[in-house]
Order: sequence, then C-alpha cells, then structure tokens
Amino acid sequence: MKLTVERTVLAGFVIVLFLLGTVGIVSQRTIIGLIVDSKWVTHTHVVLELLQQVSFRMSQAEAAVRGYVITGDTTFEAQYEGIRKQVPELISKLRTQTLDNPAEQSNLASLEALIQKRFATMDEGIRVRKSGGLEAILALGSSGPGRKLSADISALTALMRDDEDRLLADRNTRAQTSARRAFLVVLAALVLAMIAVIGSVVLVFRDLTRRQQIERIKSEFVSVVSHELRTPLTSIHGSLALLASGLLGRVNPKGERMLQIAVSNTDRLIRLLNDILDMEKLDSGKMEIRRMQCSAKELIEHAIDVMRPMAQSQQIALSASRSELFIYADRDRIIQCLTNLLSNAIKFSDPGGTVQVAAKSIGTHAQFEVCDRGRGIPADKRNSIFERFQQVDTSDSRKRGGTGLGLAISRNIVEQHGGKIWVESQLGTGSTFFFTVPLAQNHNPDIASYVDSANTVSSQRESNAETHPAD
Ligand code: ADP
Repeated sequence: MKLTVERTVLAGFVIVLFLLGTVGIVSQRTIIGLIVDSKWVTHTHVVLELLQQVSFRMSQAEAAVRGYVITGDTTFEAQYEGIRKQVPELISKLRTQTLDNPAEQSNLASLEALIQKRFATMDEGIRVRKSGGLEAILALGSSGPGRKLSADISALTALMRDDEDRLLADRNTRAQTSARRAFLVVLAALVLAMIAVIGSVVLVFRDLTRRQQIERIKSEFVSVVSHELRTPLTSIHGSLALLASGLLGRVNPKGERMLQIAVSNTDRLIRLLNDILDMEKLDSGKMEIRRMQCSAKELIEHAIDVMRPMAQSQQIALSASRSELFIYADRDRIIQCLTNLLSNAIKFSDPGGTVQVAAKSIGTHAQFEVCDRGRGIPADKRNSIFERFQQVDTSDSRKRGGTGLGLAISRNIVEQHGGKIWVESQLGTGSTFFFTVPLAQNHNPDIASYVDSANTVSSQRESNAETHPAD
C-alpha cells in the first residue's frame, strides 16, 4: 500500500490516540492504586494517634487519682471520672480502625482487659481514700497491682505502636513504588507519542518535499516545452501570414481560405503558449512586479489602442471615460489585465455593441471597470471563471479562440498588487469586470522612475505586452 500524506497523518493520529488512550487507562489505574495506598498510610497514622491518646489518658487518670488521694480535692476525682469515660470511646475507635488486622484486634482485647483492671484498682484507691482517709491509703502501702498493670499497659501499647510503625513503613514503600510506576508509564507513553508525532511530521515533510519536487519538474517541463514550441511556431505563423497576404504570389481561393485558418490557429496556439508561460512565471514567482507611478488614463488608452483592430473587426465601439488618476503598479502587467478584460468584452459582445473602460478612486485604491453589453455570465460561474481553464461554455475556447487562462492570470497579477478582481453580470444584459490597484498619491513623483528590482526579462515582457495581450 502506498504511503500518502493523508494515510501517514491518519496513521500518526491513530497511534497518538491509541497511546493517549493507553496512558489514560494505565494512569487511571495507577492513580487509583496510589489513592488506595495513601489511604492506608493515613489510616495507620490514625491508629498510631489513637494509641498515643490511650497512653496519655491513662497517665492523666493515674495523676488525677494520685492528686485526689494526696489532697482529697474532689476536682481531681471529677477529672478522673471524665477520663474514665473517654478511654472506652478511644478503645472503641481503635477497634473499628484495626478491623482489617486480626493481630491488632487480639492485642486490643488484651489492652482493654488490662485497662479495665487498672481502672478497677484506681476506683478502689478512691473508695479507700474516701472511707478511711489518707492514713488508710498509707496503711495499704505500695504493694497493690496498680504499678504492674500500668507497666503492662505501657508495654502492650508500645508493642502495638511498633506493629503499626512497621505497617506504615510497608505502606509508604508501596505508595512510593506506585508513584514511580505511574511516572514511568506516563513518561514512556509520552515518549512513544512524541516519536509517533515526529515520525508523522518527518514523513509528511518528506512527502511534501517530494510533491514539491514533482510540481517543480512538471512546471519546468511545461515551461521548457512552451518555450521550445513558441519560437518555431512564431516563425511558422509569420510565414503563413506572409503567404496568406498574397505578397509572395496568389493562391487559389480554397488555398487562401486554408491559409487563413492556419494563420488563425497558429495565432491561437502562440497565445496559449504565452498564457501558459505567464501563468507559470506568476506561480513560481519568477515574474517580477516592477511598481512605478503611472497614469491610469495612459494605461487605458494604451490597452484600447492594442485592442482596436480586434474591436473593429467585430464592429464593437470602444470608449474610455477621462480619468486623471495615478496608480502605483507594474505598467505592463496592468495593461495586460486591461487587454485581457477588453478582449473578453469584445469577444462576448454582439456586433454593433459598445465596450466601456473607466477608472475611479475608491479610498486608497483605483478601481478599473470594463463594461460590456454582451451575453452575461451565469451566477454560478462568476467565481469559477477566475480559476485556470474555466469557461462558462466548454465550446468558448473553440468558437471564440480563448485559452481559459486570461482571467486566472489577471487575478494573479491584481492580487500581487494587493488588489481584488471580480465581476458583476446579468445574463443577456452584459457584464462589468472590476479590479483594484493601489493609488500613487502617497508616493513621491520621483518614484515614476523607480524600479523595484533589476529586470532580467524586461525586453521579453515588453514584447509580450504588445504581442499577446489578448486571449
Ligand atoms: P478565455 O481565454 O476563454 O477568454 P478567460 O479566463 O479570459 O479565458 O475567461 C474565462 C471564461 O469566462 C471565458 O471563456 C468566458 O466563458 C467567460 N467570460 C469572460 N469574460 C466574459 C465576458 N465579458 N462576458 C461573458 N463571458 C465572459
């Protein structure tokens, strides 16, 4: 299968989409894993915090009982009672938080039993103090189980904390591994996507370069062939015209007619070659636009002079309205546009008709108008006729001797001047072609002699403007 630009772009697009989809799925899974792992880390922190609070509350309870026994102050007793209610709540929370861990649940059961026993000893201490006073407590001495219970509680909470610390370390490691994996997956997918994009761009670029080369070779070929054909064709045309004129001796009427046809056909071929060469030059940027200040009136008069023989042969009157405008444009190219439009206007007018040319200023531009009362142009063709080889009627080129390139060349010239070209028309009533080019008001009069760049094809262009202005 041939690898075209479209296919390459499509393949690159599909690959990038696939990779992005994969990245999306893998990232989603990895991120969910990350969230779960970090939840477990937070959970372990909560258990550690609760264990810490249990130890702390038990120390506070013991201190409150000691305070009451020594001083008999009931504030200590109230403090103890408060703590006594809080500790079972903490144990209950711890039970819920360690449901996933059977070892911790069994440790918790032992812890709860030890705490209850410890509270029982502290309750007994308060009771003795209340009934027998400080002496009764002193008489009991320090032989009770309280100290041992406290030591057991501390040892068990320390053991439980160690277990949770170990869990925490495990869970932290797992969370870090997940994060690293997520990063690597995303990085790998991005690198692959970038390779796919760069690959597509390189392929597209190579393909475009190849196409450009083919286009260049094609247009060079057309240009060389047109050049090579034009010289002998011009000489054939000259010889035929001489024969047809009868200067070299008379031929019979049938021969004369055949010569006339041959002259007109070679003339048409030369015009076609000239148009192809002009189009190619405009396309490749080889046709220089040498702007200078010039008089619109003089350009119109020149174009009318060039077209007068054709107009006379078709009994068409040409008229120009006076216009004192000065434009800043390439004189020969604007004459070429005007003669193209005049030639069409004459071709598509009926004998006895009139073609008018005018120029007026509109803002910063001069607007040229070529108006005929000919057959008109259908609405759906008013844009397409400015494309190359487009004609309203396919028989136009055969019947009226056109090439279908005149308007395309004119549009290219006008656009290179920064102007626009368009047509307004009514079927059966006539057409008016308009084009705009910049006015010269803002330019120094010296500019009339100014040439944008060295003109290497100057002499050839001069002759083009004179010999093939019309289609
Ligand atoms: P051509 O050499 O065929 O005249 P153009 O590019 O100059 O090529 O014109 C393209 C086509 O536009 C013509 O063939 C014709 O069908 C139509 N056209 C141009 N000017 C006029 C006009 N003034 N009146 C009617 N049709 C026109």
